[in-house]
Amino acid sequence: MSEWQSLLRERSVATLDALAERFGPDVIDTEALRGAFDGFQMRLTPAVLDQIKAVGDPMWTQYVPTVAEMEVVDGVVDSLGEDADSPVPNLTHRYPDRALFLVSPVCASYCRFCTRRRKVGDPEKIPLNQYDSAFAYLRAHGEIRDVILSGGDPMMLSDRRLEYIFQTLRAIPHIEIIRIGSRITSHLPERITPEFCAMVQRYHPVFMNTHFNHPDELTPAAVAALDRLSMAGVPLGCQTVLLKGVNDDPAIMMELMHRLLKARVRPYYIYMCDPVAGGEHFRTTIQKGLEIIQALRGWTSGLAVPHLVIDAPGGGGKVPLLPEYVESITDEEVVFRNYEGKRFVYKQPGVAGAVAH
Ligand SMILES: *Cc1c(COP(=O)(O)O)cnc(C)c1O
Repeated sequence: MSEWQSLLRERSVATLDALAERFGPDVIDTEALRGAFDGFQMRLTPAVLDQIKAVGDPMWTQYVPTVAEMEVVDGVVDSLGEDADSPVPNLTHRYPDRALFLVSPVCASYCRFCTRRRKVGDPEKIPLNQYDSAFAYLRAHGEIRDVILSGGDPMMLSDRRLEYIFQTLRAIPHIEIIRIGSRITSHLPERITPEFCAMVQRYHPVFMNTHFNHPDELTPAAVAALDRLSMAGVPLGCQTVLLKGVNDDPAIMMELMHRLLKARVRPYYIYMCDPVAGGEHFRTTIQKGLEIIQALRGWTSGLAVPHLVIDAPGGGGKVPLLPEYVESITDEEVVFRNYEGKRFVYKQPGVAGAVAH
């Protein structure tokens, strides 16, 4: 067993009893939480445990089960309709030129707001022995030039298995880029080993989209893991989820984006939290999302401003949302406001009357 595997197995907290032992039985009511735990498994790695500074803080909220998970209001199990767009097991082909390939059923730690909680943690639902039909589909579909490895967390696979996936994908000429969607740099930075970094370089271009939700997650160990990936030539992005009580605050988001950039991670998306059954208590309003984007755009480096997206419920894909900068567009001119709210006019080109106006 490698070092990261034994760390995961021996030093994580994965039962309610262990959680109660760590935080005290007055804080963890194992009886009350049983239903939430049974509905979606729990694991907190040493890195995540270190990030929790106080009961109920943003890190706690992301990983510790709560009774609120059992109150399903209008959440749905497959909130993004991914199973309907799945031509073969483990694969979702929704967009013209890219496909989502679920390669791992497990994560190092489980986020309580997980949109794929219906599958994640259950090896039977993302079977490791069913890659072949996915590879055959990718081979047969010449329009797919971008494959996104996800799960679960692909980085939970051994280097051997990852290399097998990389090799098989690289043998398909029309696949130009490989992406890994992973929260491992935050959950288990030890997983980014020199061996992995040496291996991945043979299969470039390989991108990684990380997942950080709060500035405190950029610990020295996480930043060092990100540095190893950058040194291995892996371009890094970040997909953040807007979560009530975690990061629904423009100042926290601004600090998160700055810390990411300092670690050479380019913020990519902020997602509105999916209305998934069991995770509804994390949801906040679209106005809040727009307020955050408005507080970033213009006020800080453009590099620090990700796209705010809603993954359309039922399977419409990601749709970007922008604050209203445009007041009116006519054939003559556009009237808009800048980040400070000042109004400006841009004349349309070559339209008769525009000049005389
Ligand atoms: C998010 C997603 C992608 C990738 O979308 P990008 O906008 O290219 O990052 C691809 N397929 C599915 C099903 C997705 O949910």
